[in-house]
Amino acid sequence: MTDTKELWQQICAHLYPQIRHDQFLTWFADTAILRIDNGLVVLGVPTQFAHDWISKHYRSKILDSLQKLSQEPVREITIIVDSALSNSDDSRGVNLSAVVPKSNKKLRKVPKRQEVRVDDENVSIMFNKKYGLNKFIVGKHNRLVHAACQAVAANPGEQWNPLFIYGGVGLGKTHLLQGTGLEILRNNSDAIVVYLTAERFLNEVVDAIKKYNAHDFKARYRNVDCLIIDDIQLLADKDRTQEEFFHIFNELYNSNKQIIISSDKPPKELAGIETRLQSRFEMGMVGEVHFPDYETRLAILQNKCAENEVLLDPEVLDLIARTVSSSIRELEGVLNQAIAQMRLENMTPTVNSVSRLLDRAHNKMAPPAPNGHVELYSNVQKTASSIRNAEDVIEKVAEYFRIEKEELRGTMRKREIMMPRQICMYLIYEVLGLSYDTIGDYFSGRNHTTVLHSYNKIKSRMREDNKLVQDIYALKREMGV
Ligand code: ADP
Ligand code: MG
Repeated sequence: MTDTKELWQQICAHLYPQIRHDQFLTWFADTAILRIDNGLVVLGVPTQFAHDWISKHYRSKILDSLQKLSQEPVREITIIVDSALSNSDDSRGVNLSAVVPKSNKKLRKVPKRQEVRVDDENVSIMFNKKYGLNKFIVGKHNRLVHAACQAVAANPGEQWNPLFIYGGVGLGKTHLLQGTGLEILRNNSDAIVVYLTAERFLNEVVDAIKKYNAHDFKARYRNVDCLIIDDIQLLADKDRTQEEFFHIFNELYNSNKQIIISSDKPPKELAGIETRLQSRFEMGMVGEVHFPDYETRLAILQNKCAENEVLLDPEVLDLIARTVSSSIRELEGVLNQAIAQMRLENMTPTVNSVSRLLDRAHNKMAPPAPNGHVELYSNVQKTASSIRNAEDVIEKVAEYFRIEKEELRGTMRKREIMMPRQICMYLIYEVLGLSYDTIGDYFSGRNHTTVLHSYNKIKSRMREDNKLVQDIYALKREMGV
């Protein structure tokens, strides 16, 4: 077996200069000499399609080479289909990457786009220019995965193959996938980069089964330099499609073509996806996208404003960046609504109007909190300011947190009381601008350092506690300030 494998390897190396690179990779992958019998060489190929093509176009070339290179005399050649050859654990097939000269593995040498056997519309239409990698804001949370995308874009198929990106909805997976594909195309406009959602891939398999009995489905992807499949979890339990994908994956991988995949979960947790696929997904780089920190959220918003050429009140951006807590899509959604409001109603978005948008977004996404705060927050309309003095603030805060005014003023150190008390001091200072000493007088004669401490504490906690920010904005709104 080893001898025939070596021989076939030599034959392929001999044939390679006579055949176009892409054709060669397409037709000679997973081929092997199965045996040599009395001058008869039995060549195995993985599909009927390959059988027909090789028989028609390359039979005499192969025979010629065999007669030149084989130690034993060769009279005839017969080509048979052995579909097991395309199984990834079948080691009989020729190792094409050892045959193809290194420089030819580079994308620069691949055929022009029109020669690809994938419908043209799949190649380019699915790319959206707005998803450039340069438009992706990088923060601590996504630095690594962004760097991996850049590395893949610079050297596709070499390092980190496949690149597997996972994470929750609206966190930038599609953006990164498309950005990487676009960058590969920008570096080399001849590269064939295919972006497909898993759903689309599934439909293609179904169509192929109808049209050609799917014999040659995987051949359609043979010339692709970079295959990008978005939301692979959608292939769960679709066994036939997974099977096809498995073959395509192996073929591309073995010819050093880049594969990029996204999913909602890491490979091992993909229920309904075959384990052999899961383990292939883990062979390269697996990166997670996270919900970004406050600074990155703010930067994304500022960037969006600049793109839309609008200028929004920094407080409004701050409110959106603090309050949105699930996805960038939601972040953009609220901002887009604020911008739309500004354009349609010719009004400048304010903290108040944006709070209402945020409420709507939240109410759509999550049930009201059991303590009723969210409900209270959402139903309150902006009222004229009802606050004349510190007593009014104390009353509002006590009402809001459903505690007694006396508890608020007193010295009890329970958390349910202390936090509203600190909020109350903060609001009196912010809204009425009273001195720390005067504020202390309203709270059992506390001295100014205690008040200052409370004020600072609330201010710094607001940087990380979205619920607190909501409470404060809600209270301010209720007070009409
Ligand atoms: P996913 O595919 O993970 O569901 P998307 O890639 O569709 O998420 O992202 C949702 C939206 O958020 C898109 O408009 C995308 O451009 C934007 N987005 C996500 N992360 C970032 C980021 N870091 N910088 C800029 N825009 C981002
Ligand atoms: Mg997506």
